[in-house]
Amino acid sequence: MVSTTDTLIEVKDIQVQFNTPEGMVRAVDGANFSVKRGQVVGVVGESGCGKSMTARSILNIVRPPGRVVGGQILYHRTNAETIDLMTLPPMSDEMRRIRGAEISMIFQEPRASLSPVHTVGDQIAENILLHQNVSKQEARIRTLEMLQQVHLPKPESQLDKYPHQLSGGMCQRVMIAMALSCRPNLLIADEPTTALDVTTEAQILELMQQLQNDFNMAIIFITHSLGVIAEMADEVVVMYLGREVERGRVEDIFSNPRHPYTVSLLESLPRIEQDREWLQTVRGMVPDPYTRLTGCPFHPRCDHAIVGVCDQIEPPLITLENGQQVRCVLYDPAIEKPNAPSEEVTR
Ligand code: SF4
Repeated sequence: MVSTTDTLIEVKDIQVQFNTPEGMVRAVDGANFSVKRGQVVGVVGESGCGKSMTARSILNIVRPPGRVVGGQILYHRTNAETIDLMTLPPMSDEMRRIRGAEISMIFQEPRASLSPVHTVGDQIAENILLHQNVSKQEARIRTLEMLQQVHLPKPESQLDKYPHQLSGGMCQRVMIAMALSCRPNLLIADEPTTALDVTTEAQILELMQQLQNDFNMAIIFITHSLGVIAEMADEVVVMYLGREVERGRVEDIFSNPRHPYTVSLLESLPRIEQDREWLQTVRGMVPDPYTRLTGCPFHPRCDHAIVGVCDQIEPPLITLENGQQVRCVLYDPAIEKPNAPSEEVTR
């Protein structure tokens, strides 16, 4: 297949299921979005909305009892070749080559993702040796360059340290150095700052912005924080119960969110009013994962739900004039709405 677009990755109708003794869980239930070269796409939603599973599907690293049961991940390579990553066996040579060299990932808990029995220098060098035709000595030199690029303090003296000898922020810099050591086209960052204190979080976010510019790589940034999205992303995908419910440019979503869930998430951002900090939360809870709701999955928590419509009809994805997309019946002209004018959900 030949690629003709500047699209790098297309996530198409991905479905991930977990078969457990308690029943089947649809962790991802038809997620769709795409990422262009050099673009930062933020994927946001509460815990349990399928963000991380979607990210893991891209790299074919969903762990049992989870299983990708449908969909495509179309990866458009720079040589104009397109591969559906779902068709590659997870442990095949091709998938291993792509994972780490062309698409890499950083995780929430950097210390848990690094090997405790190897020095950080050896771990980065090993990734370079695995994917590039260089000598051990060159790999060590490149490792040091990478540690300098991620601004690890005194990098020469950190090379031979073990992860437990470094702070959480330093381990995350090491993870970033390892992930970027082969100049990937796409970095998937799964809540990379959640386990860090606010000062270190700000430093890591700034570092990622700088490296994204330097390397012109695309990033899928998974987070539960719209504040982080506002700072990092060009586009936003809002996920709820395994599906995208809204997507569009950051400026459009923040200035005019359309889906009631996005509106609630934005209203839950902390606000300072009269020297007091207000924190509003999204009403209700994400439903039990074993429960499969009919109609719109958000209807039990939605202030605009229309009885007899929202609890019956699965909302289609509607594309608005500015390109913003929303999965909500309020924007579907084909669906009769007895009592809910669409203006109610716009800001
Ligand atoms: Fe709310 Fe109905 Fe829209 Fe779902 S489809 S978000 S329940 S108004």
